[in-house]
Amino acid sequence: MTTLRANRHYWLPVPNEGTSAGTRHAFRGPRWEGRRQERTVCGKEVGMAQPSEMDWILFPTCADCFGVLKGEG
Ligand SMILES: [Zn+2]
Repeated sequence: MTTLRANRHYWLPVPNEGTSAGTRHAFRGPRWEGRRQERTVCGKEVGMAQPSEMDWILFPTCADCFGVLKGEG
């Protein structure tokens, strides 16, 4: 019997409000389903928007999200 991985997640670049900078956070679930507001793995409520390719390139990965997911194995 196979077990579904409970810690499925995806990453999405999130711009900081009012700036052109941002952070790539992790979110629970298989993918973003278009909701305007989501909670990051590191516990922040953030506004969601379709990221541009530049966002993917420029925004650094959130160390807190990464640490939480790493801790879950
Ligand atoms: Zn984060």
